[in-house]
Amino acid sequence: MANVRLSRSEAEQGDLLPLCARCGSPAKLVKDRKLSWKKERVSVRIPLCSAHQYHWLWRDWLKGGGLAALLFVYFAGWLIGLYPIRVGGFACLSFLIVGFFWFIIALILDRSAIRLIDVTSQSITLTNVCSEFGEALQSEDKKGPKDE
Ligand SMILES: [Zn+2]
Repeated sequence: MANVRLSRSEAEQGDLLPLCARCGSPAKLVKDRKLSWKKERVSVRIPLCSAHQYHWLWRDWLKGGGLAALLFVYFAGWLIGLYPIRVGGFACLSFLIVGFFWFIIALILDRSAIRLIDVTSQSITLTNVCSEFGEALQSEDKKGPKDE
């Protein structure tokens, strides 16, 4: 995986090579995504192939779904009277442990996705893109006289 720096307009308009940012194969679609870096929120349009078209979606579902399942089990247990609303002892410890694992998994999912690692007024830097995509963009930027 590599990092790639794009101008704000390239990123926002999706004016990029039609290569999947994740694997470098021909892109099937351009995905709109809002990415955050510190307090900045940037809209990016990233080309992806059919295998990676749900690159962010399944991560969002696992993170959100995992948290929803955790809360559901917690409140369902309370509703059927497994424990009082103020849980103590074993139930509390269990939720702490499961919650901790959910947090670790959510963190791994987040860190392994295409995401921002820098934002300036001129450019953004994405990480976790494939090196072919990064190299293709670099050679596109350097494209000067066509005598090569
Ligand atoms: Zn791909």
